[in-house]
Amino acid sequence: MAPSHPVAWITHPASLRHSMGEGHPECPQRLQAIEERLRGGGLLGRMQQVEAPAATVDQLLRVHDSAHIERVLQADTSSGLVWHDPDTAQGPDTAAAALHAAGAGVKAVELVLADQAELAFCAVRPPGHHAERSRAMGFCFFNNIAVAAAHALAHGLERVAILDFDVHYGNGTADIFAGDGRVRYYSTYQHPLYPYWEGLLRPFLGASVMAA
Ligand SMILES: [Zn+2]
Repeated sequence: MAPSHPVAWITHPASLRHSMGEGHPECPQRLQAIEERLRGGGLLGRMQQVEAPAATVDQLLRVHDSAHIERVLQADTSSGLVWHDPDTAQGPDTAAAALHAAGAGVKAVELVLADQAELAFCAVRPPGHHAERSRAMGFCFFNNIAVAAAHALAHGLERVAILDFDVHYGNGTADIFAGDGRVRYYSTYQHPLYPYWEGLLRPFLGASVMAA
């Protein structure tokens, strides 16, 4: 039976607790702005409200190496932020937020594949597309869309397309699926912006070309 609200809104309170410090542009207000806009326009009430589960380590291991996962999950934030790169800081609530952000994509895939939603919007932080197989970077810890795509493949889908709309190139997603003919990755971005060198080099190595 078709769900009464075909669009799922998937989020988790941990997304709002994750903070990379005062004044950091990747802040909880980004998510609050989206939610307020949708609520004000009456759209939010017409979506299924779904809480994002935490991704499991096994789900993360499909796209990240274990050393990277451990670095995030076992970071000691008791004496302040842990910096993974000059842009990407981990605080006490970051690991939980990152797990639920990745889990949101897993849940989205499951809802759509089970015909319980026609499409899903994951309103989560931290973002994911800069996180590579073995490192966090560019505000991203786990590559949420890659975790979701790998989950779809694990559920028997033969091909997955990822369309990435952002001002930045999704170097992490390209890195993870390079050479994987099951995944075609399309990234729109403004050049030359972050991560600078990637946009010039990586398309020739990335999944979208390797899949051809
Ligand atoms: Zn970006």
